Amino acid sequence: MQLIIHRGTYQIGGSCVEVQTADTRILLDFGMPLYDSTGSDFNERNIEGKSVEKLIKENVLFDIKGLYRNSTPSIDAVLISHSHKDHYGFLPYINPKIPIYLSKGAYELVNALNVFLPESKRTNINNPIFLRHNRLLKIGGFQIKPYLVDHSGFDAMGFLITEVPTGKTILYTGDFRAGGWTKKRFDDFIKNPPKSVDCLLMEGTMLAREGGKYPGETAVVQGVVAVIKESANAVIPVYCSGQNIDRIVSLYKAALKTKSILVVDPYTAYMLKVAGKISKHIPQIEWDNIRVFLANYGKGDIYINKISKTKDNQMMISLGRKKIKAFDFANLKQKVLLLMRNTMIPVVENIPQIQGSTIIYSQWEGYIKKDTVDAKKFWSFVKRNKLKVEHIHTSGHATLDKLKEFASKVNARQIVPIHTEYPERFKDHFGPNVVRYKDGQSFEV
Ligand SMILES: [Zn+2]
Ligand SMILES: [Zn+2]
Repeated sequence: MQLIIHRGTYQIGGSCVEVQTADTRILLDFGMPLYDSTGSDFNERNIEGKSVEKLIKENVLFDIKGLYRNSTPSIDAVLISHSHKDHYGFLPYINPKIPIYLSKGAYELVNALNVFLPESKRTNINNPIFLRHNRLLKIGGFQIKPYLVDHSGFDAMGFLITEVPTGKTILYTGDFRAGGWTKKRFDDFIKNPPKSVDCLLMEGTMLAREGGKYPGETAVVQGVVAVIKESANAVIPVYCSGQNIDRIVSLYKAALKTKSILVVDPYTAYMLKVAGKISKHIPQIEWDNIRVFLANYGKGDIYINKISKTKDNQMMISLGRKKIKAFDFANLKQKVLLLMRNTMIPVVENIPQIQGSTIIYSQWEGYIKKDTVDAKKFWSFVKRNKLKVEHIHTSGHATLDKLKEFASKVNARQIVPIHTEYPERFKDHFGPNVVRYKDGQSFEV
């Protein structure tokens, strides 16, 4: 079979791999890059309204025959590994007749995000085909075995792809780790790795980043518990993505261990609700020790208005029952972990109890180290309210040790770096089977 890595051989984000056999062509992921050609953060505004042709000329999109809206479809399928934008963000450009294969959880999260976006920014997946863990399926000349992986993206998958007549096999890892609440997926996989892999396309995000103080989600729970115990203030803000379900589970566990309350906003409550359709272990606002912060953003709570228009609007009853407003925090007897993001700064500042508190930053530190508008907003919020920042986070990606363990167990004939900023280090870490290709270069497996 023939492979082309359209993007990903030397960068994190914007992954896209084309796999082709005699009569079948599929794509693995179609992500939006994190950086543009100058190395600056990729700005979605720069591509708004531009045609596919123009974006191909600007090297944002790739010249892939039969993929885009304006052409007769000849791509048989697009497989999406998970619901992070750097893996699915360019789907709106593809011909809607092309089937999209992904996990139910990934589909639910993409749709849930749509609820809070203007029409022009949504990713509508009209004809999804749901992938199930270890359930084989055939797409033309390929047999595909999707499998669930441990990652910060909910219900994320990797793909084992076999060309039917030849038996040639590739393994595309997508993004994965071994320190999350579903780390058993990693352990199970390497206990029983696929027999014969010709080409392993393995992510290497952590080759460029420090592992950090917290090896996994269990350590994150311990870190948060320590902050809650030591805090003199009752309200402890936590910066965390509303889509990082594993992390919210960790925060909930920390709240339970300290008999505190986890307060989420309606946006996060909605993400938990849709993830709860896939797994019974996801905290729901109906559960004890969880409340929902309703705030007035000028015209009431912007998130509530949007949820009330969805088919999940029966959750409005629970939202009403569990609501807490800025002035209610003073009456609470327990300590509070208050989940927040930059957009919530003005409403969080209406809670007097945050003054002088410790704030837990539970995301990749790179976001606040950059010289960006968002980073500046964060730091001025910290300064204004005399907050003390504690960085408690573990990566969504496998550490070097775990990558080594994975690569040695899979024992592929060829290891190809993807989703990494340091492909040149692969050989030192993973041995002589490493082969590097350039973005857009076609190679045979
Ligand atoms: Zn990624
Ligand atoms: Zn990811």
